[in-house]
Amino acid sequence: MPRRFLSSGLLAVFVTLVAVVPAHAQARNAVQAPQSVGAPATDKPGRDPAQPIDEAYTKKIHEYTTEPFFLSPLVDYLPASKTVPTPMAVLGDIAGAKNNLPYSKEVYAYMRLLEKSSPRVKVFSIGTTEEGREMLAVAVASDSLIANLDANRAKLAKLADPRSIGMNDAEAERIAATTAPVYYITGTIHSTESGAPTALMELAYRLAVDDSPYIRNIRDHLITLITPIVEVDGRDRMVDLFKWHMAHPNDTYPNLLYWGKYVAHDNNRDAMGLTLKLSENVLNAYVDQKAQVLHDLHESYPYLYDNTIGDGPYNAWLDPLLTNEWQMIGWNNVQEMTRMGMPGVWAHGEFDTWSPGYLMFMAATHNGISRLYETFGNGGTAETVERELSPGQTSRTWWRQNPPLPRVMWSLRNNNNYEQTGLLVSLSYFANNRDLFLRNFYEKSKRSIEKPKNEGPAAYVLTADDPRPGAQAELLRILQKQHVELSRATAPFSVTLPARARSGRAAQDSATSRASASTKSETRQFPAGTYIVRMDQPYSRIADALLDKQYWAPNDPQKTPYDDTGWSFPEGFAVQAVRVVDAKVLDVPMEKVTATVRAPGGVNGDGNVFAINHNGDNALATLRYRLRSADFQAAEEPFTANGRKFARGSFIIRNVSRGDLDKAARELGLAAYAVSAPSVKTHPVRAARVAVMHTWLSTQTEGWWRYALDQLGIPYDYISTQVAARTPDLNAKYDVILFPPTSGNGQAIIDGLPMWRNAMPWKTTALTPNIGKLDQTDDIRPGLGFQGLENLKQFVARGGVLVGVTNTAEMATDFGLAAGVSYNGSPRSRVVGSFLRTKVVDGASPIVYGIPDDLAVYSEGGETFNVSNTRGGRRGGRFSGTPERPTGRGTADDPDVVQGRPPLDSAHMALPTEHVEPWEAAPISKDQLRNPLSIIPPDQRPRVALRFGDQKGLLASGLLEGGSDIAQRPVVVDVPLQKGHVVLFANNPIYRGETIGSYFLVFNTILNWDNLNAGRTLDAR
Ligand SMILES: [Zn+2]
Repeated sequence: MPRRFLSSGLLAVFVTLVAVVPAHAQARNAVQAPQSVGAPATDKPGRDPAQPIDEAYTKKIHEYTTEPFFLSPLVDYLPASKTVPTPMAVLGDIAGAKNNLPYSKEVYAYMRLLEKSSPRVKVFSIGTTEEGREMLAVAVASDSLIANLDANRAKLAKLADPRSIGMNDAEAERIAATTAPVYYITGTIHSTESGAPTALMELAYRLAVDDSPYIRNIRDHLITLITPIVEVDGRDRMVDLFKWHMAHPNDTYPNLLYWGKYVAHDNNRDAMGLTLKLSENVLNAYVDQKAQVLHDLHESYPYLYDNTIGDGPYNAWLDPLLTNEWQMIGWNNVQEMTRMGMPGVWAHGEFDTWSPGYLMFMAATHNGISRLYETFGNGGTAETVERELSPGQTSRTWWRQNPPLPRVMWSLRNNNNYEQTGLLVSLSYFANNRDLFLRNFYEKSKRSIEKPKNEGPAAYVLTADDPRPGAQAELLRILQKQHVELSRATAPFSVTLPARARSGRAAQDSATSRASASTKSETRQFPAGTYIVRMDQPYSRIADALLDKQYWAPNDPQKTPYDDTGWSFPEGFAVQAVRVVDAKVLDVPMEKVTATVRAPGGVNGDGNVFAINHNGDNALATLRYRLRSADFQAAEEPFTANGRKFARGSFIIRNVSRGDLDKAARELGLAAYAVSAPSVKTHPVRAARVAVMHTWLSTQTEGWWRYALDQLGIPYDYISTQVAARTPDLNAKYDVILFPPTSGNGQAIIDGLPMWRNAMPWKTTALTPNIGKLDQTDDIRPGLGFQGLENLKQFVARGGVLVGVTNTAEMATDFGLAAGVSYNGSPRSRVVGSFLRTKVVDGASPIVYGIPDDLAVYSEGGETFNVSNTRGGRRGGRFSGTPERPTGRGTADDPDVVQGRPPLDSAHMALPTEHVEPWEAAPISKDQLRNPLSIIPPDQRPRVALRFGDQKGLLASGLLEGGSDIAQRPVVVDVPLQKGHVVLFANNPIYRGETIGSYFLVFNTILNWDNLNAGRTLDAR
């Protein structure tokens, strides 16, 4: 099979590397590192017989380890110290003890105890979480390395930015030979993978105390940096949940419904957008400490899966020097742990290495080395339980020659043994080959700077006259958070774009431009103030990866992408970013941007009202809520005022002082104009009362919606489906209820969890002080129920607006809330987290005010709707019949002929049918009107606001295989239901902070909630 064949080939190459490189590095060590202890590579793992061990602790290690082969010579003892306390000091037991899971404060207390008692440990605070908990990084190394951390870091900084030493390779060699690398380890980003904190407490102790040659070699030659808990908010909730479980041993217990404040598992998909504090804090720590590795600990596969190596396709923006390093370190890891007799240590596997969204990938996109372990956990508990594995997990394959066992008792201690052993093996290998890895670090940084003269591009150009300066500023701020340097042109300039960049796939260089006829080259002008993202800088790779487009070939041997296949930020933000290959762009007069990028804003002009153009910038929604007492009107048609053009939906504002508006507009980056009141039809734009509704099944994906609303200052009540079920008059409290995606189908949302066995509370109690802060209930099991469904229906019938998205939209279509709409959740075509282009169908619909044509939206799996003018029909439009001829005589174009009958008289021939587009409902026929029982009255028919683009050019970024049953289908549909509306999304418009360009589809729905029928033309019959 081709896939395996390819991988085997790769393996052979890297086995050779593993064999060659260490020997080479040893030779260098011998001459260049006189301070090294012994000959490092020959240091056998195992204790120093001269150093006493902590007998009691060691005894417990053996007691909690379920099999001798789950131990290694690195962790089967604990060295004793007269001065440094072991983890026992705060845990009351050893690390990995049965039923002992420490809170963050205990883990931190221990790390600070270590710092106090050992000159080899230093603790840094690296920031706080959304809920205000501290995040730590703990450095462990020899006394002298810790004493000279700053000096060492200054040398690493020179390797990190080769411009600082004039790209002088000889100087870099000299620095690399006398500098200690930094190996950064992060634990427990995933709260239900709970073993890392105790493993890292004990690891820090070992690194500080153990005098064996193996550990001393690590301590003397590299700095280990440890963040024991990445998701601190989620950790404390996980410990609460475990304690509840221990206190109710015979009860069923809930899943960990909330991890961080906003998202659960997706906290490890935030390394691009950096929306979460944990991402920002870890990246800053990694960059500030000039680390070479970011090694993130997870728990899901038995017993240790080094998933760093992963599988193809590899991320296309990385330096091959890095992807080779993955193989070197990873296979060494497997080799050494196999030598120690530990079963189930393997690499390669199912994880593809395409998306740069994972936490550890921050190192990969910033010239370091990303690494990740999956060890085996017990679902977040600290219990010792028998675990049975499936044949798929225990079979022997070429990449898993010593597989895990089918059935074992498994303990937290076993997990801690694997984590620590793997890490120590990696640290040892890195220490032994430190000058090689430091030279690579320098080389990768240098090659990043040399990008314009090699693979390119030279720069990305973001024009000063982008129609969406707010979204542009937001994109640039993300680049700044990624430590990317930005420049700004001080004069107008032009660039030449090659033909390749303008022909071929649609809108090659921006979300909003159109495909143009193929020309040899094109010159494009840019005004002064245009942003230039130069690629001749150390962190060019992350900028390139975010600003470029992604293409996942439908015939890629990898058939199961691990995550989204597309993420192009200019596409998702609806911002232009022109990829410029011509290196002349680097000579344009420009200055470095030193301040945080903000869109310009304020009030200009003279007149009796204020007008702000609707360009879809999200700050427009913020402004409406900030100036609550002002009168905001939306123009239902484009208009011109004081010589300036305003798009449909633009705001006309009264009852606010110029000073107040100016202040808000400046802060929000909005350009307001005082103008003479235009004569254009308007309707009020109101600060609607919003609820975000969640289920108790899953809160993962809705968290991105709460994040966006919080960031933009749009207030909302956070309610569960249980609240909807017990509130008969939802209109008394809310105008708009947002129901973002959750798990399960409509039936599951209505049913909730099975009501058998015990109630499962999710609330703040003395036993669970960290649970229930975001929302709480005495019992998470009841779902929306049919009463809740009825309450929602009444809410809409009386004039409210309900927003359904993907699976909650499907619930609406399946349970009578959206007559005439059906949901196509699984097209034959294949999409895996891609950006697909759309077209505005009805520009008069307030839902698409300010939305550009050709906007790329995030599509999880190519979901679409069909619309019909009749109720109950699963498929309306042209899909109800087929215009193609039946099987018969002649060719495909010939008419069918009935034998033994004269040809049809024209009086009997079918009347020509109206052409119906895939996004349209078929017109009502005469025949249907004979008894119009199922015909939806014209004012209650679905109104399609947005559809997918034509098949050619449909894909903006990612994977699209086929597409004929996705192209042109409705994506956003407004369904009237008596006095209110149900607005349905087949895309997820608010997702991972990567879809800024589609947020306003939701905000328009909120702000125009009581005027969604504006501009609507009704069918004649
Ligand atoms: Zn994980």
